Amino acid sequence: MTQTQALTKTLVFPLDVQSGNESLLHDARLECRRVFNEVLRLNYDGWNWDKIENVVEQNADLVQNTAQRIIDKAFDALDNYYDYDDWGRPWYKHETFPLRMNYGEGYNLFLEDETVRFRISAKPYNHVKGELRGTQDQFDLLRQAIEDDDWHVGTAEALVRHGREELHATVTNETAEVGAKTTTETVTGVDINEDCVALAALTEHGIEDSVVIDYPEIKEQRHRYFTMRKRMQEAGQTGFNDVFRDKEQQFVHDQLHTVSRRVVEWIQRFDSPVIVFEDLKDMRDDIEYGTRMNRRLHSLPFAKLRDFITYKAAWRGIPSDDVDPEYTSQQCPVCGHTERANRHKKRFKCCECEHQDHADRGAGISVAQKWLRTQEDRNVPALNTLPQVRKWELRRQASGPVDGPTVTHHTERGHQTDGVSGVSDQSTGRSSGA
Ligand SMILES: [Zn+2]
Repeated sequence: MTQTQALTKTLVFPLDVQSGNESLLHDARLECRRVFNEVLRLNYDGWNWDKIENVVEQNADLVQNTAQRIIDKAFDALDNYYDYDDWGRPWYKHETFPLRMNYGEGYNLFLEDETVRFRISAKPYNHVKGELRGTQDQFDLLRQAIEDDDWHVGTAEALVRHGREELHATVTNETAEVGAKTTTETVTGVDINEDCVALAALTEHGIEDSVVIDYPEIKEQRHRYFTMRKRMQEAGQTGFNDVFRDKEQQFVHDQLHTVSRRVVEWIQRFDSPVIVFEDLKDMRDDIEYGTRMNRRLHSLPFAKLRDFITYKAAWRGIPSDDVDPEYTSQQCPVCGHTERANRHKKRFKCCECEHQDHADRGAGISVAQKWLRTQEDRNVPALNTLPQVRKWELRRQASGPVDGPTVTHHTERGHQTDGVSGVSDQSTGRSSGA
């Protein structure tokens, strides 16, 4: 038995722009930025949103539904601010802005024997044409999305990255199949932390393997940006906050993509796996959440990494589930004794049976055990000895140039899809709230 769900992926294609109209895309992006900033300005002037939408759309020198996409994006940023107030109020963009378009309206793609041609409506009645470049697997997915009824092509962004014109197009498989949770054999418990993710694969007969993937750089970089931003705020340099926010989000985004790929590769080796997370609605009890900022600072990788893993796993037919997080980090995986004193930061030592472990790996095991316990007719294996804790560290990488914000996650209006939950295997530099 399988379950179906819609899955979206972002494909990245460098653009070979026909000579003569290169500057049109740049002009359109400047107009997108103006539209975005105009929405913010009118909002701060106290206009109501319906009125903003009408006026800005009418005055935009863009194809109508492209203007709509940009206005939506500005509303998203404002929504995020009013709902969470995490980053301070959205500020005017100083860098150029991605041109965001609906398929069939703002842009079109044409399959030919050897190539795919594009037509982007940069301005009303003003097209940019040329050919897509890129890798074969991206082309194969695109071809499938255009030709196959179970797929469709969604919104895309035209942007400059590393000095190159690119098209980031989303494709959605409407009926992707993931395995049923009830028939799984290997349960992988996942414990996500600020600086590492721990995985433990269990069957009903025992533990198969475990690994801890360290990503110290995410934590370091986030703290670094946090401090910089705070200093700038104190100095009243609010205009530059966006730049730092975008850079931080881009960095974290890229790193989390890499981590999530590693995680899914590791899990794929097992028979009929299911991935189990702690339910994030309740925050973990072993982290100090002080100020609101502090809470956001610590919570971001949890939700995002979980989304990325779930998504990449689903593309490979692997289902995900969650369990109540209460006490998972305090429970002894060997004797079941649960006490706060069992855990001291990264070290776990059971006060009852003296079992010792890497605390996060232990939490991963507890999550898997907990899931088995909640299933009908499932045996929870007795664990006497555990394998050595293996550790991987994410290789340090030089951070390349950043082109600013791209795809956001909001897809409410109209039939448009998006790199929801960071689908891309490329680093699309998608920025996201919360
Ligand atoms: Zn114990």
